[in-house]
Amino acid sequence: MKDYKIGTKCIQAGYTPKNGEPRQIPIYQSTTFKYDTSEEMGKLFDLEASGYFYSRLQNPTNDCVAARIAALEGGTAAMLTSSGQAASFYSVFNIASCGDHVVSSSAIYGGTFNLFAVTMKRMGIDFTFVAPDCTDEELEAAFRPNTKAVFGETIANPALDVLDIERFANAAHEHGVPLIIDNTFATPINCRPIEWGADIVTHSTTKYMDGHASGVGGCIVDSGKFDWTKYPDKFPGLCTPDDSYHGVTYTERFGLEGAYITKATAQLMRDLGSIQAPQNAYLINLGLESLQVRMARHCENAQAVAEYVKEHEKIAWVRYCGLEGDKNYELGQKYLPNGSCGVISFGVKGGRLAAEKFMKNLKLASIETHVADSKTCCLHPANATHRQMNDDELRAAGVAPDLIRFSCGLEEKEDIIADIAQALETI
Ligand SMILES: *Cc1c(COP(=O)(O)O)cnc(C)c1O
Repeated sequence: MKDYKIGTKCIQAGYTPKNGEPRQIPIYQSTTFKYDTSEEMGKLFDLEASGYFYSRLQNPTNDCVAARIAALEGGTAAMLTSSGQAASFYSVFNIASCGDHVVSSSAIYGGTFNLFAVTMKRMGIDFTFVAPDCTDEELEAAFRPNTKAVFGETIANPALDVLDIERFANAAHEHGVPLIIDNTFATPINCRPIEWGADIVTHSTTKYMDGHASGVGGCIVDSGKFDWTKYPDKFPGLCTPDDSYHGVTYTERFGLEGAYITKATAQLMRDLGSIQAPQNAYLINLGLESLQVRMARHCENAQAVAEYVKEHEKIAWVRYCGLEGDKNYELGQKYLPNGSCGVISFGVKGGRLAAEKFMKNLKLASIETHVADSKTCCLHPANATHRQMNDDELRAAGVAPDLIRFSCGLEEKEDIIADIAQALETI
């Protein structure tokens, strides 16, 4: 599949039916798989043979879709998870345990921030958060001897900061740890973090990959490039025998290309669950087939909307890295030359009250705690996800009281802009 262009991979990678087999990826709606002898099944349990035995660990539908996403990202192995949250959790927990430490960009999805700063902290894993535009000294100072990974988002949700992936990858590698990138907003159509040095890529497939607000899901892709065996003391889970699998050493048995994902499947899926339902994997697969076509339209619409609101007298500010003059314009040109995503943010003059009135008067764009699908939607965090905070607390959290997160769907841009125009007229 390597020789095909990315839009072709969206449609062809991960599944090649043989003579007379279904053209579309079949949904294997089966919890379990049949074997003729116990010996054959025993080999699966010892990880000596590959095959399916129980859908909590692996399912053929999921594996086809994961292989397609791995091809899109340029990775060697991938797994689907039940949600983006599960992907973020597993991506870190697969290599960090109680007593370990992780460096993370502070510009990350709110759910990921809670997962790291509260829930994983309760598990004994410490996080140091650095601003994506921190100085090299600040980044350097965040590392500790027990640091096991660096985490960031290509385009942060909802701050829309673009990460300098190469800089974070270099810092991680100097400290002998991998860089994990959540590539949800950019998708592999607009940025492939592995090409810039990232080692592991995660997704909330709930967003653009599914693209139609139909299924929650996640994915983890391994580049196969990080050499765990150079740091066996740091990554004993990958480089020393796993007693729960009769002493298999993942890096020895599965190589750099397969060790990380095999361990996550064999240990984390086995013990913690969070597999994706094959029905949902099938829906992601449908979304992936049109991902390239859709992303171009999302970006075209967002660029047009951003340019429109930028010039509007009732708009206080707008953030979109595709706009010249945006603080991340240059990073956007480097990492996202073909477009970033369909999400922009802006502030309405008049603060919180004006923002509320504007949103109430939108007719096409709906108010949702969601982004990145075919229907234009928006959210006013000060009045929804962050409504318990006063204006000062909001600013401290990096969310302006007037901030509106606006996710441009696939409708015609003239209609989206007309909707914004009429809603602005009412304030
Ligand atoms: C939504 C989102 C997540 C969480 O994904 P779920 O599928 O909702 O669990 C993680 N990262 C980013 C960037 C997101 O937008």
